[in-house]
Amino acid sequence: MTAKSAIQLVVALALFGAAGAIAYNTMISGGPVGDGPLQGEDWQCLNDECGAVFHLTPEQVRLVAKDPEGIPTCPECGKRLVQPVYICPHCGEAIQEVGHGGVPETCPECGQSLLPGG
Ligand SMILES: [Zn+2]
Ligand SMILES: [Zn+2]
Repeated sequence: MTAKSAIQLVVALALFGAAGAIAYNTMISGGPVGDGPLQGEDWQCLNDECGAVFHLTPEQVRLVAKDPEGIPTCPECGKRLVQPVYICPHCGEAIQEVGHGGVPETCPECGQSLLPGG
């Protein structure tokens, strides 16, 4: 084997390794996600002077879940006085969840059904 062909072999192996790593990463990150809401979560600030409604991406939801308190900080006023809310798909109003992650059957603002398919 000449020195040149040895280098070519090394380059080929390196490229193959890089391609394999990319394919592996794509498989890991592109597969179905079994945990965590795919849409993220909506939260509302309970600070009377703020009341901001903000959206957390699934990635932010994961970070919040790792937090000892398990709640995000309001991006508007910086207080940790927030509650998870459901955004009405009809009128866009932030609706207080019922129980843990539950959604009322109808929107208290516009009265339209919030049931899946309703
Ligand atoms: Zn706030
Ligand atoms: Zn509504």
